[in-house]
Amino acid sequence: MIRLYILLGGNLGDKQKVFSEAIALLNKQVGKITAYSAIYETEPWGFESVDYFWNQALEISTVLSPEEVLLQTQQIELHLGRTRKAAQYDSRIIDIDILFYGDQVISLDNLIVPHPRIQERKFVLVPLSEIASELMHPVFHKNIRQLLEECPDSLKVERVTDIPA
Ligand code: ADP
Ligand code: MG
Repeated sequence: MIRLYILLGGNLGDKQKVFSEAIALLNKQVGKITAYSAIYETEPWGFESVDYFWNQALEISTVLSPEEVLLQTQQIELHLGRTRKAAQYDSRIIDIDILFYGDQVISLDNLIVPHPRIQERKFVLVPLSEIASELMHPVFHKNIRQLLEECPDSLKVERVTDIPA
């Protein structure tokens, strides 16, 4: 069993419905979800939009390989209606990013783990610190709490729900 951390993001459509469908599919296709952060409303990072994002961090216990996890998460994105545009950062129904896969460091053409921009983004670090504040980043050798303290990002990140039971 590997402990996997994932970030859900999305700023279009019925976010409540899309997030709960994504969670059900992850549970079925990737592994048991063992921790959930609250949902946060966050200001778009890297582009302008009036449609704020929702973000939520999940801890999942999986037996899948990293490549299999990526395949499943991309299939779930497509199933939930994600379309890819040319722009690097844009509005989307659902984005499922792999943050950590155990303490492994992976560098493939289509998969980089730990996700290379965790440390730059409060919309990742704030939800993640709720469920994994002591988790050590295997490249920077700092835990999530320390990365959050040092993160210069000043975009808004506000809790919109309580932590689910
Ligand atoms: P972004 O998440 O950066 O906004 P996309 O979701 O469109 O962009 O992903 C672009 C590509 O990033 C995917 O095709 C995927 O192969 C690649 N990728 C590399 N590392 C990761 C990771 N850790 N998690 C998810 N996707 C990743
Ligand atoms: Mg993505």
